[in-house]
Order: sequence, then C-alpha cells, then structure tokens
Amino acid sequence: MSWDFSTEPEFEAKLDWIRTFVREEVEPLDALFPGYEYVPLNEERRRIVDPLKQRVREQGLWAPHLGPELGGQGFGAVKLTLINEILGRTAWGPIVFGTQAPDTGNAEILARFGTPEQKERYLQPLLNGDIFSCFSMTEPQGGADPRVFTTRAVRDGDDWVINGYKYFSSNATVASFFIVLAITDPDVPVHKGASMFLIPAGTPGLTIEANHHLYGAYPHDPGHALVHYDNVRVPADAMLGEPGQGFHVAQSRLAGGRLHHAMRCIGVAQKAIDMMAPRAKSRFTQGSSLADKQLVQQFIADSYTELMPFRLAVLHAAWLIDTQGEHAARAEIAACKILAAKVVQSITLRAMQVHGAMGLTKELPLAGMFMSGVALGLADGPTEAHKVNLARQLLKGYEAEDPLWPSEFYAHRLAAATERYGTEVAAP
Ligand SMILES: Cc1cc2nc3c(=O)[nH]c(=O)nc-3n(C[C@H](O)[C@H](O)[C@H](O)COP(=O)(O)OP(=O)(O)OC[C@H]3O[C@@H](n4cnc5c(N)ncnc54)[C@H](O)[C@@H]3O)c2cc1C
Repeated sequence: MSWDFSTEPEFEAKLDWIRTFVREEVEPLDALFPGYEYVPLNEERRRIVDPLKQRVREQGLWAPHLGPELGGQGFGAVKLTLINEILGRTAWGPIVFGTQAPDTGNAEILARFGTPEQKERYLQPLLNGDIFSCFSMTEPQGGADPRVFTTRAVRDGDDWVINGYKYFSSNATVASFFIVLAITDPDVPVHKGASMFLIPAGTPGLTIEANHHLYGAYPHDPGHALVHYDNVRVPADAMLGEPGQGFHVAQSRLAGGRLHHAMRCIGVAQKAIDMMAPRAKSRFTQGSSLADKQLVQQFIADSYTELMPFRLAVLHAAWLIDTQGEHAARAEIAACKILAAKVVQSITLRAMQVHGAMGLTKELPLAGMFMSGVALGLADGPTEAHKVNLARQLLKGYEAEDPLWPSEFYAHRLAAATERYGTEVAAP
C-alpha cells in the first residue's frame, strides 16, 4: 500500500494563491479587528470582509470542507489539510474562507438530519457565512462524561419541552440557533437515551445566565455561555435524527471537526516557529545571538521535530478519510486531536520564551496562540478522555497472553524457532 499526499499542479497554484491572499489580505484583519471574528459584521467590518469572502468564492475556495452536495468543491481531507494549515496562521482566516467552528460541524448536522424548512432557514445562511450557530452539550457539572448530564426533554402533545443548564456553549450570544443535547429516555444509558434538538435563538425560556471568556480574550468576543433552558417548548420536528440518536448525531460533527482543528494547529505551530527563528537570530546577549546558544537551538530543533511528525500524522489521517472513510480513521483522528493541543502548547511556549517578556503580552499573538493550545486540550473533549478511548480502541486489536511468560520471552521464541527450522541449539 502506498501513501500518497501529493496534489496536482493546479491545486498547488491554488495553495500559492491562498498563501499570498492570507498573508497580504487576511492577516491584517487580525491586527485591525482582534477578537471580532465571531461578532456579527458592522458596517465598517462588512465593507472590508465581504469583498474578501467574495474573492475566495471567485477562486472556488469558499467552504472548502464541503462536498459538492452542499455546494463545495469536494476537495477531500488531504487538500483541506493543506488549506487549513495556511488558514490556521490567522484568527480571521476561517471566517473569510467559511470554515469556522462550530458552524462547520453544525452545518453538517443540519445537512444530514435537518428538515427541508430547517435547512432553508438555517443551513443556507450558515453556509453563506451570514449567521452564527451554537453547539450546546457540556453541562455545568461536567463535559467529559455525559453520564452526568441532566438536561431533559419531555414530550408534551406534539411538542418537546426542554429543561436544564448547559455550560461553555460557545457563541451563544451571537447564535441564530442552538443545537442542544437533552435526555429523552432516562431509563436507558445516556448514550442511548439522549436526543439532539434545534432551538431557534429567542425561543421563550432560553436565557443566557452568564457568559465566560477565556483568559486574555477580548471583552467583545462572544464568549462561552451558561445557558438556561427553562421550559423551552419546540415542535416535534425540532428533533434532529431519531429519539435516542443524540450521540450519533453529535459524532457526525465531532470527528471531522477534531481533525479540522488539528489541521489549523499545524499553521499555528509553524507560525510560532516562523516567529521564534528570526527573533533568535536578531537578539544578542552575552556576545552572541540567541540563535548561537545551543539551548535556543534546541528549542528550534525540538519544535521542528514535534511539528513535522504531527503534520504527517494529520495528513495520514486525512488520507485515510479520503481513501477509506472517517470510520477507518478513528484512531488516527483521536491521535491527532491529542497531539494538536500538546504540539501547539509546547512550540508556542518556546516561542514565547525566546521573545522574553514581550512574548507574554498582547502586543504579540503568541500568548493567545498558546491559550488556543490549552483550549484544544479541552474543547471537543479533554485529552485524557481521548487517550482513554484511544487506548481502549487499540487494546481491542490485541489478545491477552500467558500472564507469567510473555510471548516474546526468549524460551518461547527459541521453542518456536526450533520447531520452524528443526535445529536444536543451546540457549545462549
Ligand atoms: C474553548 C472551548 C470551547 C468550548 N466550546 C464548547 C461548545 O461550544 N459547546 C459545548 O457543549 N462545550 C464546549 N466546550 C466544553 C468542552 O467540551 C468541555 O470543557 C470538555 O468536554 C470537558 O468538560 P469539563 O470542562 O466539564 O471538564 P470535566 O469533565 O470536569 O473534566 C475535567 C478534567 O478531568 C480529567 N478527566 C476527565 N475525564 C477523564 C477521564 N476519562 N480520564 C482521566 N481524566 C479525565 C481531564 O483532565 C479533564 O480536563 C468548550 C471548551 C473550551 C475550552
């Protein structure tokens, strides 16, 4: 079997266009409008951002994660990796190209499980980048283990009535609709008894009781809300998928989304190296540049040797998705999700260190980039939970063996070799 991440020259030309466009047109938005990526466009920002989105559309690059059935190009995951690693260098890149989380995943849910009316009202505007959405699953008492979830949906005539609290619902303050997980059958394990609902913003009973921001985030950032669903009444067709299918529906957005984050993390980590190296060459202390100090050289070499295999791991997971489907790539996606947070944290931390005190300030993007790595160790499930799941999945591929003498014990191997070749030799 060969692994092939190559792309045709026409696509390489597109990547060149994206690189230049992002560097010259999109990165300046990070300086002009920091923290406004998810704030609905006002007149001033629209005047600048809409024409940029239009140029992306004209290049056939809008929402490059989408298949042709949803109006995308169907680039596939490998090409998406190569695009997303460029977009990951900027906060505004995903918005200008229509690939921002959680809207990409929510669009996937709507496309697969929404009614024609829901699709018309929400999917198209979401795909057009005209509205934002919220995915509301984590609860105040815990996110990593759904068995602690208590939000309930109870059938009442033709309606469902939803009660409960959700926490860290990103972009709730700007969302046009919420995708909410609620327990519909408390008598079975939560993975079989929870269902997914679409709740329009402004539905009576839906209130934002608090809105929390990541450390260092701008106050105008839409934040992560504590949402109270207090007797929220929705019609029967607000349920996305079948009763009890809530986790199946959630999974359809999470796996791909986790890899999309990992793709962008390549760009974040590469940007940190691209900042660290010139700074190291430009700063002098004790008679030589930082780049001449072996400890700083180690920073750069360690960063590269972390980033390179991570990038290959993401490309490999993407290639598996393209060739064998998302299910076949479960372990690889989990590994990338785990690595993404770790790689971004360790490389951006070194870059901060090389920049000295300034590296910690808002004058540079490094502290924010580091924080995004910390956030990724939690968002879409904590690293530890993913490690547990990955290990369980990998262990399924192995059988237990003799508890005293493992199969690689020399006497076992010698006995097998003797049988194979019919030659008696004395153990060394
Ligand atoms: C930036 C950001 C955005 C987010 N956006 C959303 C969103 O839009 N919608 C949404 O629903 N949620 C969102 N979340 C919440 C996220 O899904 C939860 O933070 C995550 O699932 C963990 O839940 P928790 O924070 O309640 O931590 P807990 O469940 O309390 O876990 C705390 C810690 O316990 C440890 N732990 C947990 N499980 C295990 C285990 N099995 N083995 C070993 N250790 C374990 C881990 O160290 C973990 O970090 C977001 C989080 C962040 C950081």
